[in-house]
This record gives sequence, C-alpha cells and structure tokens, in this order.
Amino acid sequence: MEHREVASINLARLLKEGGTTRAAGVVRKAFQVGEERFLLEGEASWKVAVSAVGGDEYWLSGEVKGTVLMECRRCLRPTPTPIHAHFQHLLRYQQGLPEVVFHEEAEDEYYAFGGPDLDLMPFLTEAFVTEMPYTVLCHEGCKGLCPVCGADRNLVDCGHEAGLQHPLLGLKDLLSEL
Ligand SMILES: [Zn+2]
Ligand SMILES: [Zn+2]
Repeated sequence: MEHREVASINLARLLKEGGTTRAAGVVRKAFQVGEERFLLEGEASWKVAVSAVGGDEYWLSGEVKGTVLMECRRCLRPTPTPIHAHFQHLLRYQQGLPEVVFHEEAEDEYYAFGGPDLDLMPFLTEAFVTEMPYTVLCHEGCKGLCPVCGADRNLVDCGHEAGLQHPLLGLKDLLSEL
C-alpha cells in the first residue's frame, strides 16, 4: 500500500476574520516527486503561517527541515544530508476552486485555492527538494568504487590499481579465455 503523507492547514477562520493562521507538523519516511522518493532519516518537521494581506490575497510563509539520505556520488552509500528550506508564496482565494492552481502572469506569481483546507505537501516538497544539493560525498576522502571489480574501496583493498582501468586488463582477460 502506498502511504501518502498528509500535511494541511485549515484556513476557515482566516478567510472569515483575517489575521494569521499557523500550523506545524512532521513528514515521515520520504518526500515524493512523481515516481522518485527522497528517503528521510527520522522525521522532517515543518511550520507555516498564512496571513491575510487584503482583498482575496494571503501570504504563505514557512520552513521545513530534516535529513535526507542521498547516495554518495563516489561509493553510492546512503549519506545523511541535513536540509533546511524556507519558502514564501502569494495565495489568492477563489471560492469553489477544486484544487490549487499555479498562476504566472508577467511578474505576478500566485497560487489560487478554493477551499478552507490547503494541502501543504506540494509546497513542503518543492521547498525541500529544491534545497537539496546536486551531489554529496559520504566523507571528504571517499575512495569510491573500484572501476574494475566494483568493490567499495573504503572497505576493502581489492588490489586493483586506483584511478583509470589499465588498458591491458581487458586484453589479459581475453587471453586467459583462449
Ligand atoms: Zn562515499
Ligand atoms: Zn577492484
């Protein structure tokens, strides 16, 4: 069964009375973007505030922080990587709109929403994933995987020459098969 994380904020009172509404919570296990899952170490915590700024406009601001497991770019070991992201978005209330819709018109960017319950997962996920580095190293001196036999050179010394594969190695294998 696919476990879908829920994070939302109820804005009923804000829509009626104005002011600011706050919420906080945690995301367990992972952030998901399409088919891709970004596994968490422990829980990621989030908090948001939504403030009325006049008319049908609201200002969403928040932060999300947690530790994501990213593959070391040399040895592929899952590497805990702390992430702390902040985000801010303009929201516009359009009564009855069934889902949140992103609008971009010239310099004007906002999310239109239509109900009192606002799903925060898309905002949290986007902020978190955008803040992740492209690549990580498990540690500064990671020796990576042997290009010849695939052994983790941090753990074993397979005896193969570090660096480039020897051009004659392939030939040697070929000769031994003859
Ligand atoms: Zn590594
Ligand atoms: Zn090797």
